[in-house]
Amino acid sequence: PGQGVVRASQIDSLVPHFPLCMRTLHTALRRDNHLRYFGRQQYGLFLKGIGLSVEEALAFWRSSFSKCTDEKFSKEYRYNIRHNYGLEGNRRNYKPRSCAQILTDAAPGANEHHGCPYRHFSEDNLVTALQSLGVSDQAVLRGVRDDVRNKQYHVACTRVFEATHKAAGVNSPVGVGVGMESVTHPNLYYDRSVQFAR
Ligand code: SF4
Repeated sequence: PGQGVVRASQIDSLVPHFPLCMRTLHTALRRDNHLRYFGRQQYGLFLKGIGLSVEEALAFWRSSFSKCTDEKFSKEYRYNIRHNYGLEGNRRNYKPRSCAQILTDAAPGANEHHGCPYRHFSEDNLVTALQSLGVSDQAVLRGVRDDVRNKQYHVACTRVFEATHKAAGVNSPVGVGVGMESVTHPNLYYDRSVQFAR
């Protein structure tokens, strides 16, 4: 992964390496068999960044939108996916969005799941989401609450990275020992997590 090749069928097994924003999108996609436009953009470009080719992206979204007909898929979604790979329209080769971009995008509305959960979730929902990732250490959860109150969303994300990668021998204050000062890009989070697992 990283610069490697990832197949559509591997995505579910790679989710443990995803930061919370992308897990949230993946979970919503699996639950609803659908994602709205901004979610598709944020998640689709992230998946491109981890090594999904345009053919695999089309296969992934087609099978994920399981309630959609082939005709509707071709008409409404195929173009956008190919567009993100620079194969339609202005042929720009779009890059995955950074945390700074994601944090300044429009906030998710009803039934939307894009954005940064550290910023957009209520504190209670955030804690519930983190507990479902296995983050139960009260000191870590307290630290995340403080980070969020101080609007240090990427620091909260780094703290969670560290808490969830302790098995690899990391037990450090924020920003030390994970090979990055703090999370600045969802794809960086992914790359570091995959490196850790090796
Ligand atoms: Fe995603 Fe960045 Fe927010 Fe982490 S800080 S959840 S990588 S947008």
